Amino acid sequence: MAYVISDDCIACGACAAECPCEAISEGDGKYVIDADACAGCGSCASVCPVGAPQEA
Ligand code: SF4
Ligand code: SF4
Repeated sequence: MAYVISDDCIACGACAAECPCEAISEGDGKYVIDADACAGCGSCASVCPVGAPQEA
């Protein structure tokens, strides 16, 4: 199951550094996850300070 980053994202970039699949990139005002690349490991959710990445 892929993760999706909500509008709560403050664009800190912490999740992108933790993703083993390089599925996270900076988007327009927030970070976004490439659903096809995401392995659903949850690492992004565990490091996010605002809980923005959530299971889709
Ligand atoms: S769930 Fe894992 S693979 Fe998917 S975006 Fe987050 S850190 Fe990357
Ligand atoms: S760690 Fe959370 S707040 Fe930071 S860029 Fe990722 S989703 Fe956004």
